[in-house]
Amino acid sequence: MTQQAPESNSPTLFAKNPSNILPHKLTLDSKLRFRCHPGVSCFTACCGNINIVLTPYDILRIRRALNLPAQEFLLRFTTPVYLEQTDLPGVKILLDEDGRCPFVTEEGCTIYSYRPTTCRYYPVGMSYFREAPADKNEASISEEFYFLVKEDHCKGHQEEKTQTIREWRIDQGIDESDLMNKEWMELVMRRKSFGRQATLSEPAKRIFFMASTDLDKFREMVFSPSFQNTYDFDEQTLAKLREDDVELMRFSFRFLAATIFGIPDSGLKVKEERLKQKIEQMKQNRDQAEQRAEETYKELLKDHEDLKRQVAEKQKGDR
Ligand code: SF4
Ligand code: SF4
Repeated sequence: MTQQAPESNSPTLFAKNPSNILPHKLTLDSKLRFRCHPGVSCFTACCGNINIVLTPYDILRIRRALNLPAQEFLLRFTTPVYLEQTDLPGVKILLDEDGRCPFVTEEGCTIYSYRPTTCRYYPVGMSYFREAPADKNEASISEEFYFLVKEDHCKGHQEEKTQTIREWRIDQGIDESDLMNKEWMELVMRRKSFGRQATLSEPAKRIFFMASTDLDKFREMVFSPSFQNTYDFDEQTLAKLREDDVELMRFSFRFLAATIFGIPDSGLKVKEERLKQKIEQMKQNRDQAEQRAEETYKELLKDHEDLKRQVAEKQKGDR
């Protein structure tokens, strides 16, 4: 889309109506015949009754354009949602009382240059196929593919313009959005592929939500004394995290990967002395547990001996 044009939700994060998904796997070189512009009869028709889930980069980009702190943006324009059939909390755009996106007007999208990733994708959807390896030494099999959503009300499919999915992605600024969201999307997909059998604690969910939606709060946490006493940062990194929102957002993905998903090599380094304290604490806990077990064992032994003695005395008395 080249003008102030509205789009609906891409099934990348939410499928509005799966029956509108055409059953053809598309690649980057597949051709797409589509154009959305203010001249189409359905102009802005797709900016209502939709689920537009926001990625961390979407939130950052839109609220910066609106010059709003994270909290105010979240309260005014979003509502909580679970991400991609997982138990991970996130946010989607809060529709107005007519079920319309708060950013749409008759002239089109008022945040067009900063519109969410989902809006950029429509009517193309992207999906990942990921299969865990049978052997842990083998790499997992993964594939990325595209599909087309064709809804009756959308007249963009009747336009003449044809381009490849690759060109479409560039035209819509999807490459940049995906690059920014990549590590976060991988965490969501990872959670989705694990299913709900693996439980995530409530505090872990709260941290995930905070880091994914409110970078102001996440920054406060990063610069809190307890965080600074736990993790090792060089001055240069600290300066970047203090001043650069995108750097902070990227760091939040690594932080979530390491602390919630236990992914190694996230670049998050726990301070040596904190590590020693933790190991010492674990040793103390273990020593105390061993001592308690020893005491319990001695008490049980004593009870057993007492019982034996009582039985022997009773037998003697009976004779
Ligand atoms: S953000 Fe813009 S493109 Fe997306 S639904 Fe709202 S008005 Fe439409
Ligand atoms: S052509 Fe499709 S994407 Fe464009 S405004 Fe119409 S319904 Fe929305």
